Amino acid sequence: MDKADFPRDKVCAGWITPEVVAALQLDVSAYAGKHVFQPITAIRTGLIDGRDLETRYADTVSYGIRRSEFDDYLLLRSGARLRLGEGLTSMEQRGSRWIVNGSLSTPLIVGAGGHFCPVARFLGARPGAAESAVTAKETEFEMTPQQIDDCKVRPDTPELYFSQDLKGYGWCFRKGRHLNIGLGREGHQGLGRQLKHFFDFIRERGRIPRDTPDDFHGHAYLMHGRTQRKLLDDGVLLVGDAAGLAYPQSGEGIRPAVESGLMAAASILEAGEDYRREKLASYPARLTERFGKPAAPRKAFPEFLRPLLARKLMDNRWFTRNVVLDRWFLHAHQAELQIG
Ligand SMILES: Cc1cc2nc3c(=O)[nH]c(=O)nc-3n(C[C@H](O)[C@H](O)[C@H](O)COP(=O)(O)OP(=O)(O)OC[C@H]3O[C@@H](n4cnc5c(N)ncnc54)[C@H](O)[C@@H]3O)c2cc1C
Repeated sequence: MDKADFPRDKVCAGWITPEVVAALQLDVSAYAGKHVFQPITAIRTGLIDGRDLETRYADTVSYGIRRSEFDDYLLLRSGARLRLGEGLTSMEQRGSRWIVNGSLSTPLIVGAGGHFCPVARFLGARPGAAESAVTAKETEFEMTPQQIDDCKVRPDTPELYFSQDLKGYGWCFRKGRHLNIGLGREGHQGLGRQLKHFFDFIRERGRIPRDTPDDFHGHAYLMHGRTQRKLLDDGVLLVGDAAGLAYPQSGEGIRPAVESGLMAAASILEAGEDYRREKLASYPARLTERFGKPAAPRKAFPEFLRPLLARKLMDNRWFTRNVVLDRWFLHAHQAELQIG
């Protein structure tokens, strides 16, 4: 069940790491023949208003997709019976079954409705001020031949520019003829101001066409470990953004959404047809094994020193390659998901 009709757009840059392709067993040649599938072999990084540097790789380290295409493809491939264009508006427990929207009877509900998922709310989530979320905005459009000529962002080299306080970053991500520009940061404060500043910065620097449209769309989501949502109860569990699983440093949320879906499926199968909470307990255990325990609160680094530290770190080639990119963005230390 999804409140949207498909294909639908999702506010997202559409950057996926290779483990997403592996976990989904995506037939790359079939997919890439008909859809945007942009290999990434280098990444340009820097600070907003600062210098930048390019890190090149021998192999493809990530891909760019368009969510309108990717999500539709996966939905059709799943072979699931679909109820599209219908939002979940009510869920009532009757014995060991749920009655959804007064008409659908099911023993189990998987809440996959993103940050504002109604199933997460049913389990007690209160999206808003009570949760520490990332807020992000992006715009994606197909460039004209003139704009392609004017665009300095190369398709195989997305660009990431971090804010001076290191609490967020902006990106320019070109996927073939499509350009995606956006900015995300921790918290609800100052997103619009920072986005405008970033947009002016990359335009002035000549990275994007001067007539790039600025109709940005935004969304919020949680970083794993920063806010704890209840994930499980009798006959109900949460996956993806509904569960608040995005990687804290990069904001990558597609991989945890896909992997949590697979882990949830494995636990559901193991439970037989008995979906009481204790029978589904292997699901949160799998999540902890994969993504770790909730992070301890970080020691505050004095605000006035942050810009200095940011400059030192982001100007450093070793730190950029090994920590920012390999560790924070590409998770080179984390193997493909194996479900035991
Ligand atoms: C600006 C921005 C850029 C991002 N860029 C990246 C990126 O490049 N790479 C990356 O890995 N992550 C990125 N993310 C994060 C990523 O988009 C999410 O983590 C990911 O989409 C989570 O997937 P999901 O399936 O859990 O939720 P969603 O993708 O949000 O899907 C939720 C679905 O639930 C449906 N729904 C919502 N409410 C209801 C309801 N009441 N009833 C029925 N259906 C409902 C929606 O229509 C939607 O189809 C970005 C996020 C933002 C905001």
